[in-house]
Amino acid sequence: MDLGIAGRHAIVCAASKGLGKACAVSLAREGVSLTILARTKADIEAAATEISAAYGVPVTAVAADVTTPEGRAAILAASPQADILVNNAGGPPRGDFRSFTAEQWMAAVNDNMIAAIELVRALVDGMIERRFGRIVNITSAAVRRPIADLSLSTAARLGLTGYAAGVARQVAQHNVTINNLLPGPFETDRFRGGVASRATASGITYDEQLARQRRAVPAQRVGDPAEFGDACAYLCSRQAGFMTGQNLLLDGGQF
Ligand code: NAP
Repeated sequence: MDLGIAGRHAIVCAASKGLGKACAVSLAREGVSLTILARTKADIEAAATEISAAYGVPVTAVAADVTTPEGRAAILAASPQADILVNNAGGPPRGDFRSFTAEQWMAAVNDNMIAAIELVRALVDGMIERRFGRIVNITSAAVRRPIADLSLSTAARLGLTGYAAGVARQVAQHNVTINNLLPGPFETDRFRGGVASRATASGITYDEQLARQRRAVPAQRVGDPAEFGDACAYLCSRQAGFMTGQNLLLDGGQF
């Protein structure tokens, strides 16, 4: 299916690897030019070179921290009029809810809620004027199925979910959509780090722990980031214009 977005421009946040990069790749394959960002300059530049070479679209790399006002200013300076915005950032740490300080709560809300809200605020009126906008927030399956040691993440992402639900209804009439993509387990560096620390905690090997986690998914496997990227590209498509304010869960049937 031709997604009808060739020639559009997208900002994809936190995109040097993992789910953000997979979204960038799927959009580039559809002919979308990109501004991609992550904090590590060498990594984001390497990703931009790789994606541009593979799909023949211009890809601008910005070394920036999306959770800071300065980082967001750098992104918006590179791409003031994006048609598509994919919000993403690293996730907050795991831990016991009793141990989290007020500072950690503020950081989680800043990183996984306010950063996305600020980019939406900066870009949405241009999308409305041009009568096309697609905003996708990468959140987490934990929004639907809270995970015991992820309360920082779940709470901050639920805040963003509530914001998106309200704003999506205010901008829908202008062909601007806002949807959330909720990853279950996808095999990225972050996921592999989680498998390794659980394996250590349980005194088993990495492969044994990975097999356990696969068995917990009805599909009997974890997700391929490319599957996530393609779902993101569909949400950004011309054809997805009637789908807004939704939470799309990709978790192999776990919830
Ligand atoms: P990942 O493989 O570790 O990749 C994270 C990417 O984000 C990297 O490119 C990293 O580059 C960039 N990044 C991190 N913090 C950033 C910041 N402050 N500003 C700009 N870029 C930043 O992680 P992932 O698995 O793709 O996860 C992406 C998001 O999905 C996270 O919020 C995670 O919690 C959530 N999630 C993932 C899964 C899963 O199974 N993978 C499940 C549920 C939720 P730099 O470090 O160079 O900045």
